[in-house]
Amino acid sequence: MSYTIQGATGPWEVVVGLEVHAQVISRSKLFSGAATAFGAEPNSQVSFIDAGFPGMLPVINRECVAQAVRTGLGLKAQINLWSRFDRKNYFYADLPQGYQISQYAHPIVGRGSVEIELSDGSRKTIGIARLHLEQDAGKSLHDQHPTKSFIDLNRSGVALMEIVSEPDMRSPEEAGAYLAKLRQILRYLGTCDGNMDEGSMRADVNVSVRRPGEGFRTRCEVKNVNSVKFVMQAVEAEARRQIEVWESGGEVEQETRLFDVARGITRSMRSKEDAHDYRYFPDPDLPPLVLDPAWVEELKASLPELPDERRARYIAMGLSAYDAHVLTLERETAAYFEEVAQGRDPKLAANWVTGELFAALNRMKRDITDPPVSARHLGELLDLIADETISGKIAKDVFEIMLETGEAPRAIVESRGLKQVKDSSAIEAAAAQVLAAHADKVAEYRAGKEKLFGFFVGQVMKAMQGKGNPALVNEVLRKLLG
Ligand code: ADP
Ligand code: MG
Repeated sequence: MSYTIQGATGPWEVVVGLEVHAQVISRSKLFSGAATAFGAEPNSQVSFIDAGFPGMLPVINRECVAQAVRTGLGLKAQINLWSRFDRKNYFYADLPQGYQISQYAHPIVGRGSVEIELSDGSRKTIGIARLHLEQDAGKSLHDQHPTKSFIDLNRSGVALMEIVSEPDMRSPEEAGAYLAKLRQILRYLGTCDGNMDEGSMRADVNVSVRRPGEGFRTRCEVKNVNSVKFVMQAVEAEARRQIEVWESGGEVEQETRLFDVARGITRSMRSKEDAHDYRYFPDPDLPPLVLDPAWVEELKASLPELPDERRARYIAMGLSAYDAHVLTLERETAAYFEEVAQGRDPKLAANWVTGELFAALNRMKRDITDPPVSARHLGELLDLIADETISGKIAKDVFEIMLETGEAPRAIVESRGLKQVKDSSAIEAAAAQVLAAHADKVAEYRAGKEKLFGFFVGQVMKAMQGKGNPALVNEVLRKLLG
């Protein structure tokens, strides 16, 4: 069932394409040696190049190029061995050079694809049109002084990847799933931290609407949307606005808009008539970027396992599609799970991580990177279950004590005497007492009320503080009652 929005005159389809700016993880900037750390003192990470001093020569940062290539490979995309940097000319206070260096006509990465998963379990492939490298601009600060604006150039010259999708998405959900998946892939690759609240990743959302079966209509671009949720809201708000324009006999004009988060609507920022003429031309300070195919092969060989492949591997290990999905959402979660599962039953490990551990993280508002129980300790707990030192039920109690005290599971079991009792004479003694105390129920059982068996098991377990070996308790009771 494809997604449509019902207008006054019938259903409308939504068409979405995203242009995502992703800040490259690298110690220094795209063309200078200045640092890139977030949150530094304003203007403390600015070289003469980033400040646009005349006569400075940019030199390309090899690591930024490697990151773009890795990202291209992760997006199953064409790597262009020859690419070029152009100058995009415009004036703005946060752009001291008077132009941005960007790959315009010849990007480093060409066509690729991203597979998304939707809530109904279906999968869809979204085309990538291109990825190019460019410089970020500085930042204007308007809230520091009543009459003055300040400029912070720390971000000036930081490497960005602009990742442009094909107009392949057809609903707010697909647009959100695409952005989330792209972010996941970049984080797995280690090429962008994906921190959208810090501005490391932001999306320009292109939206148009059409009658089902029609060709594309004019689109509008909603600039700088900074969360998955806001992308979904912006798509829906902008689509509804356009439907109203078309249905009232008007025509959607191509323009750049902004999403007003508080009011949930988009507002016009500039129309196509105000569109800049950027006077692009090849940057004369930079030679074309030519890549050695052997170097690209090396980068490919050293690529980490990506989320789709990891998910498939977990399913092949016997995990459910759901467990495989949630365990691979974050690379750190997958790493934790793998340490727990190493040499153990993967399904048992998955149950404990997605069950007890996730619940504890939620409850304690902790992150998997700072877990209240280490993967090593959780693994040891599973060993105690596997070798029948404790039952699964007691293991949950031990886990709670681990959360509180940070102690190792074996030490907890020893010091608190939680070891499972496998001695049948001890179990027989406990069972005999229980049966003697419930002679009436024993009589009922023997008269045919067989479901009382569970009651006896429960009573014996209770008498033994949950430490009786369940199989033995069953066996003993069957013998005594039989
Ligand atoms: P331009 O060169 O003008 O920036 P592009 O063809 O590069 O235009 O497209 C920019 C973005 O707009 C891409 O993400 C693309 O998927 C998206 N896009 C293009 N046409 C449409 C449309 N009719 N509706 C929605 N999105 C579109
Ligand atoms: Mg564009």
